[in-house]
Amino acid sequence: MKLSYVKSPEEKTKISPKGNKVVTKKTAIWTKKDLLGLEYLSKEEIGLILDNAKSFKEVLARPLRKVPTLRGKTVVNLFYEPSTRTRISFELAAKRLSADVINMVKEGSSIQKGETLIDTGRNLEALKTDVIVVRHNCSGAAAMLSRAVNISVVNAGDGWHEHPTQALLDIFTLNEKLGNVKGLNISIIGDIAHSRVARSNIWGLTKLGANVTVCAPGKLIPAGIEKLGVKVTSNIDEAIKKADAINVLRMQFERDAAGAFPSRIEYFKTFGITEERLKKAKKDIVVMHPGPINRGVEMSAEVADGANSVILEQVTNGIAIRMAVLYLVTHAKRENA
Ligand code: ASP
Repeated sequence: MKLSYVKSPEEKTKISPKGNKVVTKKTAIWTKKDLLGLEYLSKEEIGLILDNAKSFKEVLARPLRKVPTLRGKTVVNLFYEPSTRTRISFELAAKRLSADVINMVKEGSSIQKGETLIDTGRNLEALKTDVIVVRHNCSGAAAMLSRAVNISVVNAGDGWHEHPTQALLDIFTLNEKLGNVKGLNISIIGDIAHSRVARSNIWGLTKLGANVTVCAPGKLIPAGIEKLGVKVTSNIDEAIKKADAINVLRMQFERDAAGAFPSRIEYFKTFGITEERLKKAKKDIVVMHPGPINRGVEMSAEVADGANSVILEQVTNGIAIRMAVLYLVTHAKRENA
């Protein structure tokens, strides 16, 4: 298995003064103790995570799916919001790297007694843990925690802000299916307003050179989103027509998405992804969803389980991405190290 702090996602060809072709490589070095969002990463750093995830995916294909990379380290999953895929995936990733794992949820912990996020984080640090993977309903919670502790903090979703590992696993899956996202047309469809998945995908995909379109009912499109370099439409057929891939988002009813359209049936009729609608799309269009799916709201069951769907492959790839992230943040080359 080849792991590296320094990897070369970018090659540039120059002609030397003597007229020879010289291939120069732009290298990336991982220096960050935390992963807070794709907004804060360069495209080389994103490439570094994706490259390392490729190596870890090889580990997951072995009969013995374990390496000693994080032996002696402890990862805490600190989840203030419900989660199935992300929490289990981080736990599996840490265990596949031989780390010890502690799962902490609101219920049954001192969070219920009113302990602050920072106090909880500082106590976890005092308990000599190495990484806190945090999910929180408040945008900015992961960044706030990262400033309060010296150990690593990985954002597993903060409010409406970012869900970086979800976008990384989406991009990894797109690379596997389509080669490279540069120049591809990717449409993100659904509850853009409440979606940290949308924001992380927009940051990541635009940095890597994809053409991103967002599509939703007007009330679910945040004001000024086009400033992030995306096209905006409320016409679903337009969003699908030229797309190489669509990433279909869950309606976040717990965050008041329901007020944006008259009923779930009407949303499905106007924006839902059906086999009928996909007939107007490219034949090999890649269909993604971060889960959990509301079948019959965002997409039909036939599409979710159909030939174009890579939804379960996304889930599998999530483990490799999270292994890469846990590896990099715990092996960051600190500035003066
Ligand atoms: N699982 C993703 C998240 O936590 C997407 C969703 O919940 O809709 O943001």
